[in-house]
Amino acid sequence: MKKFNLIIIFMLSLMLALAGCAGKENEPQQKEQITTEKYEDKKEQQGNSQQKNEGEGDAVNTGSEDGKDNTEDDAEPTDTASDGESTSLTLNPDTVTYAQEEVVTTSSVNVRKAPSTDSEVYQTVPRRSNFTRTADDGTWSAVQIEGNEYYIASEFLMLASEVTDNGYLVVIDAGHQAQGNSEQEPIGPGASESKPKVASGTTGCVTGLKEYELTLQVSLKLQEELEARGYQVMMVRTSHDVNISNSERAAVANNAGADAFIRVHANGSDDSGQNGALTICPTSANPYMGNLYSQCRKLSECVLDGVVNATGANKQSIWETDSMSGINWCTVPVTIIEMGFMTNPTEDANMADDGYQQKIAVGIADGLDSYFE
Ligand SMILES: [Zn+2]
Repeated sequence: MKKFNLIIIFMLSLMLALAGCAGKENEPQQKEQITTEKYEDKKEQQGNSQQKNEGEGDAVNTGSEDGKDNTEDDAEPTDTASDGESTSLTLNPDTVTYAQEEVVTTSSVNVRKAPSTDSEVYQTVPRRSNFTRTADDGTWSAVQIEGNEYYIASEFLMLASEVTDNGYLVVIDAGHQAQGNSEQEPIGPGASESKPKVASGTTGCVTGLKEYELTLQVSLKLQEELEARGYQVMMVRTSHDVNISNSERAAVANNAGADAFIRVHANGSDDSGQNGALTICPTSANPYMGNLYSQCRKLSECVLDGVVNATGANKQSIWETDSMSGINWCTVPVTIIEMGFMTNPTEDANMADDGYQQKIAVGIADGLDSYFE
């Protein structure tokens, strides 16, 4: 009798210890225990898949070549979805709802073998992938792939019936911020040359408007215009009081898997007579992302033409340079639109005007339309 009690106490403490482990890994409440041996196995597998997860939610970077390459590695029999191990993690029984509905991914995202960011990645799918969802606990959704159940973070799924956009994601970066940041960062991946993380920008010669104010005013109008045209839009910033370096701005677009990254800026010159719009793209020999040259060039042409047509501004040129950190760090097509010169009295006054800003936004949107055409 005594011995029996001891066994029960031993088993209870084992269960408590296992529950402690699970809690540390932020897993939902477990219905079934897993043996410590399997737990260790799992941790090893996580090691392989962890680098796929960039840390922000469960979205992943489509820009790089990390696509579905780990699918082959997952062939071991212990990893099949029907295995006992994967059922040890379940959707939250208190919040789960069951359904049979078509969903699409709103971002490049990991498909996992269990509802936890600690679980193994079965595959990484691009934005706009279709699945049948069978259950959703608010945090994780169960989806069917070839008769097996896998899991995707619910925040990256939407009902296919509610997709009203045109399928393109545009990330908008309103240039600069309230305070520049003179700390240095490399101008591109692996570069020895560095530049300040964010320059402070220029100022309107007659309006006194700061470049970071102007760029956000136009960027918000552009967001509205693009959304009205069916684009999915993501903003790098929507307020002035941020501290986001140029490489970090590129990372926002990269991680989102943007179809186009639009960086909104205004120009300045010692010559107050200088006026007009220009766009900036990398050279074909860019050592960091030269493979994107033709797309960036086309994007830069389309956006510049769109803005010049809509505003009547003087058409400057497309400036090809490899000196822009926020371009060099990109793994997606990017352009910088320099809307005009804040050091030119007429253009400064124009750009501060609501109606003119709307024309710029329409022009950039027209450019994107023709880029994607
Ligand atoms: Zn600028």
